Parts: sequence; structure tokens; C-alpha cells
Amino acid sequence: MAPEIKYTKLFIDNEWVDAKSGKTFETYNPHDGSVIARVAEGDKEDVDLAVAAAKRAFHRNSEWRQMDASKRGEILYKFSQLVERDQKYLAELESYNNGTVLNIAYGIVSGAVKSIRYFAACADKITGETIPADGEVFSYTLRQPVGVCALILPWNAPISMFLSKVCTALAAGCTMVVKPAEQTPLTALVLAALLAEAGVPKGVVNVVNGFGPGAGTSLTHHSDVAKVSFTGSREVGKLIQQASGNSNLKRVTLELGGKSPLIIMNDADLDIAVRYAGNSVFFLQGQMCIAASRLFVQSGIYDKFVEAAVKYAQSIKVGDPTDPTSQNGPQIDKEMMNKVLGYIESGKQEGAKLLCGGHRIGTSGYYIQPAVFGNVTDDMTIAKEEIFGPVQSILKFDTLDEAIDRANATNYGLAAGIFTSNLNNALQFSKHVEAGIVWVNTYLHFGPQLPFGGFKQSGIGRENGLDSLLAYTEVKTVATAL
Ligand code: NAD
Repeated sequence: MAPEIKYTKLFIDNEWVDAKSGKTFETYNPHDGSVIARVAEGDKEDVDLAVAAAKRAFHRNSEWRQMDASKRGEILYKFSQLVERDQKYLAELESYNNGTVLNIAYGIVSGAVKSIRYFAACADKITGETIPADGEVFSYTLRQPVGVCALILPWNAPISMFLSKVCTALAAGCTMVVKPAEQTPLTALVLAALLAEAGVPKGVVNVVNGFGPGAGTSLTHHSDVAKVSFTGSREVGKLIQQASGNSNLKRVTLELGGKSPLIIMNDADLDIAVRYAGNSVFFLQGQMCIAASRLFVQSGIYDKFVEAAVKYAQSIKVGDPTDPTSQNGPQIDKEMMNKVLGYIESGKQEGAKLLCGGHRIGTSGYYIQPAVFGNVTDDMTIAKEEIFGPVQSILKFDTLDEAIDRANATNYGLAAGIFTSNLNNALQFSKHVEAGIVWVNTYLHFGPQLPFGGFKQSGIGRENGLDSLLAYTEVKTVATAL
């Protein structure tokens, strides 16, 4: 049975309101393309109201700013209990709106509860320091919340993205306006309602659904927004940084795309490496910024590995996300499906060998059978551009030194991985690869404690971990004459 759609309006000042323009937009189920609901479409006027609410809630005399940091932590903990209470519904709604296989969505939401609790425990651990400065002064620093934040989300993991940004900002004491991706507007509204139920005062968290060129740009140009945290494409990330420079020099955190390399050495455990390599690019239908979309396999095991990789890809059951036997669901929408199919076509045209999959399944919904390409070379489009779909590109290499140079020959630098039984290989690779996250004999291993973000054009700043909390604060230095 389809999950109930409880909320479709904008959430401003802890109230449900229509867009000032009265406009709404349709949101879909990627399983069959059917319309799930019409959702209020926020634009500049609504963003102005939401930012004004967040600004009031950030006033130094407001309930939120007067609240003890430990109380903020308690509210976040209460929120984690409410998410745990409603986890089945949240997972069902996520799956219904973005096509994540239901069994995986259950796991994602229960994992998210841990992440909320991590940030709940951080709220009263933000400290400054005393500094023995020259002269007769007592000097110390204060860490204070940065102000009103704009949190702009993508569609591929809406609940996780909402929680990692919102919970960090709340733990730091900020107020915020969240703009979910236009493809997946629903779960953010449910989470906002749970935050209010947990005791977050009005105006602290506002949610304005809408489109990038409307609600998105209004937020990034707004002079009362002190910080933008954005997850999405590199192209939009660049526009956001420009908007910050052209408005009020907002602080900017960007989590962008990737073309992550995964290296399989001759001495790797083959079975384990094949499984992880498959999961690293096919999980969530390949719609992951950290997808290992360049798989470098050492020449000594290349043929054996490719054969096993094809078997792995062929074994993935693609189908209805609500079917408990499905492992992969549909791509988010027709546009993304066609974009991925276009990349597969380009791989064939440019001389890579399509070894399995790569075709649309059926005519209803946006399903693609996982594809494996062999004989891929560094200059091919599928080896250079982010595909964001279930396409594994296998490249051959001879020495680790060569693999590291080729792995680094990209403007991206999000994640990287290596499978090897030689410690020195692992250490050399980890030291020299240009990536914000390096996995050794594993992949897709996350945790709220582990900083997440990219080198080069994969982003600026980190999410998760204590560093991310500090990015929602300003340092104030105080020097008092003795
Ligand atoms: P996108 O950049 O098109 O959109 C992301 C968000 O930005 C949406 O909410 C959209 O409405 C908004 N937006 C669009 N134009 C805007 C503008 N001019 N100003 C302000 N906001 C604007 O990205 P997407 O298609 O939703 O997501 C896919 C991309 O996200 C991929 O490139 C992927 O790698 C990246 N991604 C990165 C991470 C990470 O943590 N590094 C995680 C998930 C996805």
C-alpha cells in the first residue's frame, strides 16, 4: 500500500503555509512515473519569509539562543527517538519518492538515528580555548553559531542529507532554511514536523520546497543568510560560490560530484574485491557521488576479475523497490535514465566493450540493468565524466605507481579505494591519492564520526565529524586587559 502523504505545504515558523504565489508542482514515483502529490512551490517571497523567521529565531534574546547547549542536545536526542518511532513510514516514503529499494531504505533510516545521536551528544562539546598572548591580557576564543544557514539538498539520499546538515547546524546553535531537491520534496517535510514535535522552537528549522532557479537562488543571494551548505552537482556548486561572492560573502560548504577510482591489486582477495567493487558502483542504482566509477584492475588478474565482475552485475535483481527480493530500483526520473543510457551509448561508440547490461528494463518506470564495460581507456567519456548510474568501467594497469597517477588525473577528488593484501601498497596509495576519503579493503564505509568531503572540484569543507560542527561556527577572539 502506498504511504500516506501527510504534508505538502511549506514549513515556516513551525506552521504549514501555502506558497505566496499559490503555485504547486508535481512529485513522482520513479517506479512507474505516476504522480504522488502536488507540493507547494516556494519562490523568492517565500524564501524571504522563511529567512525572516530564521533570523528572528536567531536573535540573541530568542528562546533558541537563550537555550543551554545541553538542552539543544536533549531536543536532538528526542528527535532521534521520534525518527526511530516513525522509521518504517519514513523509509517507505523515501522509497516511494526516490526509488531506493525499501529494504535498503529501512537500513538507511535506522543508521540515520545513530547519526542524530552523535550530533545530539556534540551540542555541548563545542568549546573555545584560552591563549597565552603577549602583554598583560587574558585571551580566549568563543565558538559561536554562524547564523541563518541555507541547506540545499540533492535527491539521491534525501533523508541522510537532511539529517547530516540539519543536525550539525542545530547542534552548533544555528537556525536554517532547508531547500530539498525538487524531485524529492516529501521526507524533509515529515522530518521538519518531527523536529517541531521534539521541541525545536518556531523559526529555527524552515523547509521551502521549490526549484533551483527559484527558491535555490533566492536563498544563495539572500543577504541575511550567513552560510550555505550545498550537496549537489559541481556546476551548481560553482554558481553557489559565485552567488556568495556577489552577495554578502556567505560561508560556503560544498559537497559535489566525483569520479572515484578503485584500485584492485594482483594480491587482493578476488571474491571480496569483486563484491565490493560491484557494490561500490551499483548500490542505489549508481546514484552516489562516491560511486567507484573508474575501476582499475592490475593486469595479472584482469581477465579473471572481469569475468567475475560480469557475473556479479548479472546477479543483481533490478525491480520494484517494494519487492523484498529487489536489490536495485529505478533511476530517479526519465531525464536521469536517458542521461545514463546516453553515457552507455557513448562508451560503445568510443570503443569500450559492453560486457553485460546497459539497457532499459521494461517501458514503465526508469529501470536500467547494471552495465559492465571492459577495455575502457582514460580518454573515454565514461572514464572522465560523472555518470550517476549503474555503469562499471574497468581499466587495466600494470604498476601501483601508474595507477596512482591515473587515479589522480581528474578534476574530482571525493573518494578512492584500494584492495590489496600488501600493507605498503595500501599506505602508499592512501598517502598519494588525491581524495577526501580513502577506503582500504572496504568501500562505502561511513559514520557520523568520519569527516566526509572532497579534494579539488569535489567540494569545499567536510560534513560529519567534529570538523563539520566547527564549520557552523565563527571564532571570536577576546582579549581582556589585566
Ligand atoms: P543539482 O546540483 O542539480 O541540484 C542539487 C540541489 O541544488 C537541488 O535542491 C536543486 O534544486 C538546487 N539547485 C539547482 N540549481 C540551483 C541554483 N542555481 N542555486 C541554488 N540551488 C540550486 O544536483 P542533483 O542532480 O540533485 O544531484 C546530483 C549531484 O549531486 C551529482 O553531481 C552528485 O555527485 C552530487 N552529490 C554529491 C554528494 C556529496 O556528498 N559529495 C552527495 C550526493 C550527491
